[in-house]
Amino acid sequence: MLIDRLRRPLRDLRISVTDRCNFRCTYCMPADVYGAHYQFLPKRELLTFEEITRLARVFVRLGVVKLRITGGEPLVRAEIEKLAAQLAGIEGVEDIALTTNGYLLPQKAQALKEAGLSRVTVSLDSLDDAVFRRMNGGRSGVREVLDGIDAAERAGFSPIKINAVVQRGVNEHTIVDLARYFKARGHIVRFIEYMDVGSLNGWKLDAVVSADEIVAMIDAEMPLEPVAPNYPGEVANRYRYADGGGEIGVIASVTRPFCGACTRMRLSAEGSLYTCLFAVAGVDLKKPLRAGASDAELERRIRGVWGRRADRYSEVRSALTEPRPHKVEMYHIGG
Ligand code: SAM
Ligand code: SF4
Ligand code: SF4
Repeated sequence: MLIDRLRRPLRDLRISVTDRCNFRCTYCMPADVYGAHYQFLPKRELLTFEEITRLARVFVRLGVVKLRITGGEPLVRAEIEKLAAQLAGIEGVEDIALTTNGYLLPQKAQALKEAGLSRVTVSLDSLDDAVFRRMNGGRSGVREVLDGIDAAERAGFSPIKINAVVQRGVNEHTIVDLARYFKARGHIVRFIEYMDVGSLNGWKLDAVVSADEIVAMIDAEMPLEPVAPNYPGEVANRYRYADGGGEIGVIASVTRPFCGACTRMRLSAEGSLYTCLFAVAGVDLKKPLRAGASDAELERRIRGVWGRRADRYSEVRSALTEPRPHKVEMYHIGG
């Protein structure tokens, strides 16, 4: 098994398939930065599906069992279901998930299911249309995303996880409604503490609503009790409704960091490896890949990157006197 300098094994690979997105969430790709003239990566710079699949195969040989397709918005990449099918064909992969804003799911859910995708996570920050539009840069109403979730359900994905980023003064007053709506439908909402990823979203600690506050708000209306993790290193802390009607998760990356159990490597759309969501630089794999490197050579490079890994940004964040400059942006490497 491949382990890093803090003895963490490599188990998960998050694959960003595009740096583009049809939304402009203020906490991720603010519209004033990612405007009409923003230069996204040209197509030739993106890894092809064949290149991604070849790398994924090498990762699986090194111990990866879970893959997640993300972005940017993965469904804006043409024929994404073909990638899902190629990844599903890799022997040893236990789980292939996809994180999406849901807008294009009505067109894509069925094809993704048929391709062999195991699970979908849909991001939806509020059921209040005005609040949601403010958060996604005016690109979508709530209805479109709910239609996407319905389409995923009809295609046979169940349960579906719903990601909601919580920001103080923005959507915290709507989280109980969100919890209640999906409780009735048997889906699992995972409330995410607003993180200081990248350096363009103007993050401030006082905009973070802590996991404890989130749980207290929901518990006051629908009593909750903590549940043990499904597996060691699960990112979300789980709580179930005392009345037996399902569960929620809270991802407390700011107030209760979980770096000790972080087994994730990230592959960017242009083929760089990142060992942490808060990394400043990646390691390019595309160049050797396109220069004809053998699988053994690629494996050696990946071993080197993971072997040198000592990232634990969330655990040391509070000790940093200055915010880390020039961190990679989240849309670049996925969630
Ligand atoms: N576009 C897809 C989506 O929104 O689901 C996939 C990529 S998006 C970067 C992955 C996840 O990261 C989403 O659930 C999003 O809400 C979350 N995210 C983005 N910026 C964040 C931030 N600053 N703090 C916490 N979560 C964030
Ligand atoms: Fe796009 Fe997802 Fe980032 Fe929102 S969170 S801007 S949907 S990549
Ligand atoms: Fe993993 Fe980095 Fe997040 Fe810690 S801060 S959990 S090492 S991605």
